[in-house]
Amino acid sequence: MHMRTKEKPYNTLNNYYQLRYGQKVFKIALNGDFTCPNKDGSKGTGGCIYCSESGSGDFAGNKTFSLNDQFQNIKQMMQKKWKNGLYIAYFQANTNTYKDVETLRTLFEEALSLEPKIIGLSIATRCDALDDAKYDLLEELSKKTHLQIELGLQSIHQETALWMNRGHDLQCFTDAVNELRKRNIDVVVHIINGFPNETPNMMLETSNFLNNLDIQGIKIHMLHVMKKTALGHLYAKEPFNLLTLDEYRDIVVKQITHLKEDIIIHRLTGDSPTDQLIAPLWTKKKFIVMNEIDKYMRANKLHQAIYYNQKE
Ligand code: SF4
Repeated sequence: MHMRTKEKPYNTLNNYYQLRYGQKVFKIALNGDFTCPNKDGSKGTGGCIYCSESGSGDFAGNKTFSLNDQFQNIKQMMQKKWKNGLYIAYFQANTNTYKDVETLRTLFEEALSLEPKIIGLSIATRCDALDDAKYDLLEELSKKTHLQIELGLQSIHQETALWMNRGHDLQCFTDAVNELRKRNIDVVVHIINGFPNETPNMMLETSNFLNNLDIQGIKIHMLHVMKKTALGHLYAKEPFNLLTLDEYRDIVVKQITHLKEDIIIHRLTGDSPTDQLIAPLWTKKKFIVMNEIDKYMRANKLHQAIYYNQKE
Protein backbone atom coordinates (compact mmCIF):
# COMPACT_ATOMS: atom_id res chain seq x y z
CA MET A 1 0.00 0.00 0.00
CA HIS A 2 1.36 3.41 -0.85
CA MET A 3 0.67 6.62 1.04
CA ARG A 4 1.52 9.19 -1.58
CA THR A 5 -0.52 12.33 -1.85
CA LYS A 6 -1.22 14.32 -4.99
CA GLU A 7 1.37 16.85 -3.86
CA LYS A 8 4.32 14.52 -3.53
CA PRO A 9 5.54 11.69 -5.76
CA TYR A 10 6.83 9.76 -2.74
CA ASN A 11 5.75 8.83 0.79
CA THR A 12 6.46 11.68 3.13
CA LEU A 13 6.64 11.48 6.88
CA ASN A 14 4.10 14.30 7.25
CA ASN A 15 1.59 12.42 5.22
CA TYR A 16 2.20 9.24 7.18
CA TYR A 17 1.59 11.04 10.48
CA GLN A 18 -1.47 12.77 9.08
CA LEU A 19 -2.95 9.41 8.07
CA ARG A 20 -2.02 7.73 11.33
CA TYR A 21 -2.86 10.50 13.79
CA GLY A 22 -5.04 12.92 11.82
CA GLN A 23 -2.85 15.85 12.79
CA LYS A 24 0.64 17.23 12.66
CA VAL A 25 3.32 15.44 14.64
CA PHE A 26 6.51 17.22 15.67
CA LYS A 27 9.77 15.64 16.61
CA ILE A 28 11.37 17.31 19.57
CA ALA A 29 15.10 16.67 19.78
CA LEU A 30 16.15 16.00 23.36
CA ASN A 31 19.68 15.57 24.57
CA GLY A 32 20.14 12.61 26.90
CA ASP A 33 23.85 13.33 27.38
CA PHE A 34 25.08 10.31 25.48
CA THR A 35 28.53 9.65 24.10
CA CYS A 36 29.45 7.36 21.24
CA PRO A 37 31.38 4.05 21.24
CA ASN A 38 33.07 5.16 18.03
CA LYS A 39 34.58 8.12 19.86
CA ASP A 40 35.38 6.92 23.37
CA GLY A 41 37.60 4.03 22.33
CA SER A 42 35.27 1.14 23.08
CA LYS A 43 34.68 0.56 19.35
CA GLY A 44 36.84 3.26 17.86
CA THR A 45 38.31 6.68 18.36
CA GLY A 46 37.89 9.89 16.44
CA GLY A 47 34.33 9.05 15.37
CA CYS A 48 32.94 9.05 11.85
CA ILE A 49 34.93 11.42 9.66
CA TYR A 50 32.05 13.89 9.26
CA CYS A 51 30.88 13.85 12.88
CA SER A 52 30.74 17.14 14.75
CA GLU A 53 31.42 17.59 18.45
CA SER A 54 27.74 17.33 19.21
CA GLY A 55 27.59 13.91 17.55
CA SER A 56 25.26 14.68 14.66
CA GLY A 57 22.80 16.25 17.02
CA ASP A 58 23.40 19.87 16.24
CA PHE A 59 19.82 20.86 16.92
CA ALA A 60 19.24 18.78 20.00
CA GLY A 61 18.30 20.33 23.33
CA ASN A 62 20.89 21.60 25.77
CA LYS A 63 22.16 18.66 27.80
CA THR A 64 22.69 20.77 30.91
CA PHE A 65 18.90 21.22 31.18
CA SER A 66 16.51 18.57 32.43
CA LEU A 67 14.53 16.68 29.81
CA ASN A 68 11.43 18.55 30.88
CA ASP A 69 13.08 21.98 30.45
CA GLN A 70 14.47 20.98 27.07
CA PHE A 71 11.05 19.77 25.98
CA GLN A 72 9.16 22.81 27.23
CA ASN A 73 11.61 25.26 25.61
CA ILE A 74 11.35 23.67 22.20
CA LYS A 75 7.59 23.19 22.48
CA GLN A 76 7.09 26.86 23.32
CA MET A 77 9.06 27.92 20.26
CA MET A 78 7.06 25.57 18.06
CA GLN A 79 3.75 26.71 19.43
CA LYS A 80 4.40 30.22 18.15
CA LYS A 81 3.93 28.77 14.69
CA TRP A 82 1.74 25.72 15.23
CA LYS A 83 -0.76 25.78 18.04
CA ASN A 84 -1.80 22.14 17.88
CA GLY A 85 -0.07 18.91 17.32
CA LEU A 86 1.39 15.81 18.85
CA TYR A 87 5.01 15.15 19.71
CA ILE A 88 7.69 12.55 19.38
CA ALA A 89 10.60 12.72 21.79
CA TYR A 90 13.66 12.38 19.62
CA PHE A 91 17.00 11.27 21.02
CA GLN A 92 19.31 12.32 18.26
CA ALA A 93 22.76 13.39 19.46
CA ASN A 94 25.46 10.72 19.60
CA THR A 95 24.51 7.08 20.29
CA ASN A 96 21.29 6.98 22.23
CA THR A 97 21.39 3.40 23.48
CA TYR A 98 24.94 3.73 24.78
CA LYS A 99 24.23 3.55 28.53
CA ASP A 100 23.29 0.69 30.79
CA VAL A 101 19.83 -0.67 30.33
CA GLU A 102 18.37 0.61 33.61
CA THR A 103 19.58 4.17 32.91
CA LEU A 104 18.05 3.92 29.47
CA ARG A 105 14.75 2.71 30.88
CA THR A 106 14.57 5.63 33.32
CA LEU A 107 15.44 8.16 30.64
CA PHE A 108 13.02 6.90 28.00
CA GLU A 109 10.19 6.45 30.52
CA GLU A 110 10.77 10.00 31.73
CA ALA A 111 10.64 11.33 28.18
CA LEU A 112 7.35 9.53 27.54
CA SER A 113 5.82 10.87 30.72
CA LEU A 114 6.61 14.55 30.04
CA GLU A 115 3.23 15.15 28.51
CA PRO A 116 0.28 13.11 27.19
CA LYS A 117 0.72 14.59 23.74
CA ILE A 118 4.00 12.71 23.37
CA ILE A 119 2.89 9.77 21.30
CA GLY A 120 6.23 8.29 20.40
CA LEU A 121 9.92 7.92 20.87
CA SER A 122 12.55 8.11 18.20
CA ILE A 123 15.97 6.84 19.18
CA ALA A 124 19.04 7.22 16.98
CA THR A 125 21.77 4.68 17.50
CA ARG A 126 24.43 2.40 16.05
CA CYS A 127 24.12 -1.34 15.48
CA ASP A 128 27.05 -2.04 17.82
CA ALA A 129 25.39 -0.29 20.77
CA LEU A 130 22.55 -2.81 21.06
CA ASP A 131 22.46 -6.12 22.92
CA ASP A 132 19.82 -8.56 24.11
CA ALA A 133 18.91 -6.59 27.24
CA LYS A 134 18.54 -3.39 25.20
CA TYR A 135 16.49 -5.12 22.53
CA ASP A 136 14.22 -6.41 25.31
CA LEU A 137 13.81 -2.90 26.67
CA LEU A 138 13.06 -1.49 23.23
CA GLU A 139 10.51 -4.20 22.58
CA GLU A 140 8.84 -3.41 25.88
CA LEU A 141 8.74 0.31 25.01
CA SER A 142 7.40 -0.41 21.55
CA LYS A 143 4.37 -2.06 23.12
CA LYS A 144 3.53 1.14 24.98
CA THR A 145 4.32 3.79 22.41
CA HIS A 146 5.17 4.38 18.80
CA LEU A 147 8.87 3.57 18.79
CA GLN A 148 11.22 4.22 15.91
CA ILE A 149 14.85 3.20 15.97
CA GLU A 150 17.04 5.24 13.65
CA LEU A 151 20.04 3.23 12.60
CA GLY A 152 23.05 4.71 10.85
CA LEU A 153 24.29 2.80 7.84
CA GLN A 154 25.52 5.59 5.52
CA SER A 155 26.87 3.22 2.85
CA ILE A 156 26.89 -0.52 2.23
CA HIS A 157 30.40 -0.33 0.76
CA GLN A 158 33.15 -1.55 3.04
CA GLU A 159 35.80 0.72 1.48
CA THR A 160 33.58 3.71 2.30
CA ALA A 161 32.95 2.44 5.82
CA LEU A 162 36.72 2.26 6.33
CA TRP A 163 37.29 5.70 4.78
CA MET A 164 34.73 7.34 7.03
CA ASN A 165 35.94 5.43 10.11
CA ARG A 166 32.47 4.03 10.66
CA GLY A 167 33.72 1.32 12.99
CA HIS A 168 31.22 -1.40 12.11
CA ASP A 169 30.48 -3.50 9.08
CA LEU A 170 27.39 -4.22 7.06
CA GLN A 171 26.71 -7.51 8.83
CA CYS A 172 26.40 -5.73 12.18
CA PHE A 173 23.85 -3.34 10.65
CA THR A 174 21.85 -6.11 8.97
CA ASP A 175 21.76 -8.20 12.15
CA ALA A 176 20.44 -5.21 14.11
CA VAL A 177 17.70 -4.52 11.57
CA ASN A 178 16.64 -8.17 11.62
CA GLU A 179 16.59 -8.33 15.40
CA LEU A 180 14.52 -5.12 15.68
CA ARG A 181 12.06 -6.38 13.10
CA LYS A 182 11.75 -9.73 14.84
CA ARG A 183 10.48 -7.66 17.73
CA ASN A 184 8.20 -5.61 15.49
CA ILE A 185 10.05 -2.33 16.06
CA ASP A 186 10.04 0.29 13.30
CA VAL A 187 13.44 0.92 11.73
CA VAL A 188 14.50 4.12 9.98
CA VAL A 189 17.86 4.00 8.21
CA HIS A 190 20.25 6.88 7.55
CA ILE A 191 22.27 6.90 4.36
CA ILE A 192 24.66 9.50 2.94
CA ASN A 193 25.25 10.37 -0.70
CA GLY A 194 28.38 12.04 -1.99
CA PHE A 195 31.28 10.14 -0.46
CA PRO A 196 34.20 11.13 -2.71
CA ASN A 197 35.13 7.51 -3.55
CA GLU A 198 31.59 6.55 -4.55
CA THR A 199 29.99 6.58 -7.99
CA PRO A 200 26.27 7.33 -8.37
CA ASN A 201 25.76 3.64 -8.99
CA MET A 202 27.34 2.74 -5.65
CA MET A 203 24.96 5.17 -3.92
CA LEU A 204 22.03 3.50 -5.69
CA GLU A 205 23.34 0.12 -4.55
CA THR A 206 23.14 1.31 -0.96
CA SER A 207 19.49 2.36 -1.18
CA ASN A 208 18.59 -0.71 -3.27
CA PHE A 209 20.12 -2.94 -0.62
CA LEU A 210 17.59 -1.60 1.87
CA ASN A 211 14.74 -2.90 -0.30
CA ASN A 212 15.81 -6.38 0.75
CA LEU A 213 15.44 -5.61 4.43
CA ASP A 214 12.21 -4.94 6.25
CA ILE A 215 12.71 -1.26 7.01
CA GLN A 216 9.97 1.30 7.51
CA GLY A 217 11.75 4.57 6.78
CA ILE A 218 14.79 6.18 5.27
CA LYS A 219 16.69 9.42 5.75
CA ILE A 220 18.81 10.45 2.79
CA HIS A 221 21.57 12.97 3.41
CA MET A 222 24.22 14.74 1.41
CA LEU A 223 27.73 14.50 2.82
CA HIS A 224 28.29 17.78 4.67
CA VAL A 225 31.78 19.10 5.27
CA MET A 226 31.64 20.90 8.61
CA LYS A 227 34.08 22.94 10.59
CA LYS A 228 35.85 21.22 13.50
CA THR A 229 35.47 17.75 12.00
CA ALA A 230 38.10 15.37 10.62
CA LEU A 231 36.44 15.76 7.23
CA GLY A 232 36.69 19.55 7.48
CA HIS A 233 40.43 19.31 8.14
CA LEU A 234 40.92 16.87 5.29
CA TYR A 235 38.98 19.09 2.91
CA ALA A 236 41.06 22.12 3.87
CA LYS A 237 44.27 20.19 3.15
CA GLU A 238 43.15 18.37 0.00
CA PRO A 239 39.80 19.59 -1.33
CA PHE A 240 37.87 16.79 -3.04
CA ASN A 241 34.92 16.79 -5.39
CA LEU A 242 31.51 17.15 -3.83
CA LEU A 243 28.25 16.61 -5.66
CA THR A 244 26.55 19.60 -7.26
CA LEU A 245 22.89 20.19 -6.54
CA ASP A 246 21.95 18.75 -9.97
CA GLU A 247 24.04 15.64 -9.40
CA TYR A 248 22.55 15.15 -5.95
CA ARG A 249 19.02 15.59 -7.34
CA ASP A 250 19.65 13.00 -10.06
CA ILE A 251 20.98 10.45 -7.58
CA VAL A 252 18.15 10.98 -5.08
CA VAL A 253 15.53 10.70 -7.82
CA LYS A 254 17.07 7.41 -8.92
CA GLN A 255 17.07 6.16 -5.35
CA ILE A 256 13.43 7.12 -4.77
CA THR A 257 12.22 5.61 -8.02
CA HIS A 258 13.91 2.31 -7.09
CA LEU A 259 12.77 2.34 -3.49
CA LYS A 260 10.08 -0.06 -2.28
CA GLU A 261 6.61 1.44 -2.33
CA ASP A 262 5.90 1.36 1.41
CA ILE A 263 9.13 2.86 2.76
CA ILE A 264 8.53 6.29 4.23
CA ILE A 265 10.98 8.99 3.27
CA HIS A 266 11.78 10.96 6.40
CA ARG A 267 14.37 13.21 4.79
CA LEU A 268 15.80 14.02 1.41
CA THR A 269 18.52 16.29 2.60
CA GLY A 270 20.31 16.92 5.86
CA ASP A 271 20.35 19.90 8.17
CA SER A 272 23.44 21.37 9.70
CA PRO A 273 24.09 24.67 11.43
CA THR A 274 24.90 27.06 8.58
CA ASP A 275 27.71 28.76 10.47
CA GLN A 276 29.51 25.42 10.75
CA LEU A 277 29.07 24.37 7.15
CA ILE A 278 32.11 24.52 4.83
CA ALA A 279 30.68 22.77 1.76
CA PRO A 280 28.64 22.19 -0.30
CA LEU A 281 26.93 25.53 0.19
CA TRP A 282 23.83 24.61 -1.81
CA THR A 283 22.79 22.32 1.07
CA LYS A 284 21.90 25.45 3.05
CA LYS A 285 18.89 25.90 0.77
CA LYS A 286 16.98 22.88 1.94
CA PHE A 287 13.68 23.92 0.35
CA ILE A 288 15.32 24.49 -3.01
CA VAL A 289 16.88 21.04 -2.87
CA MET A 290 13.51 19.45 -2.09
CA ASN A 291 11.75 21.52 -4.76
CA GLU A 292 14.30 20.50 -7.36
CA ILE A 293 13.69 16.83 -6.59
CA ASP A 294 9.89 17.20 -6.63
CA LYS A 295 9.89 19.32 -9.78
CA TYR A 296 12.09 16.91 -11.66
CA MET A 297 10.02 13.90 -10.64
CA ARG A 298 6.76 15.57 -11.61
CA ALA A 299 8.09 16.82 -14.95
CA ASN A 300 9.26 13.31 -15.79
CA LYS A 301 6.18 11.55 -14.39
CA LEU A 302 8.23 9.62 -11.87
CA HIS A 303 7.21 8.35 -8.48
CA GLN A 304 8.54 6.19 -5.68
CA ALA A 305 8.98 2.52 -6.66
CA ILE A 306 8.34 3.06 -10.37
CA TYR A 307 11.62 1.21 -11.05
CA TYR A 308 11.57 -0.97 -7.95
CA ASN A 309 13.47 -4.19 -8.61
CA GLN A 310 15.34 -2.78 -11.60
CA LYS A 311 19.06 -2.54 -11.07
CA GLU A 312 19.76 0.59 -13.18
S1 SF4 B 1 28.11 7.04 15.12
FE1 SF4 B 1 27.16 9.06 15.10
S2 SF4 B 1 27.83 10.06 16.97
FE2 SF4 B 1 29.17 8.29 16.66
S3 SF4 B 1 30.95 9.10 15.60
FE3 SF4 B 1 29.52 8.35 14.02
S4 SF4 B 1 28.22 10.13 13.47
FE4 SF4 B 1 29.30 10.61 15.41
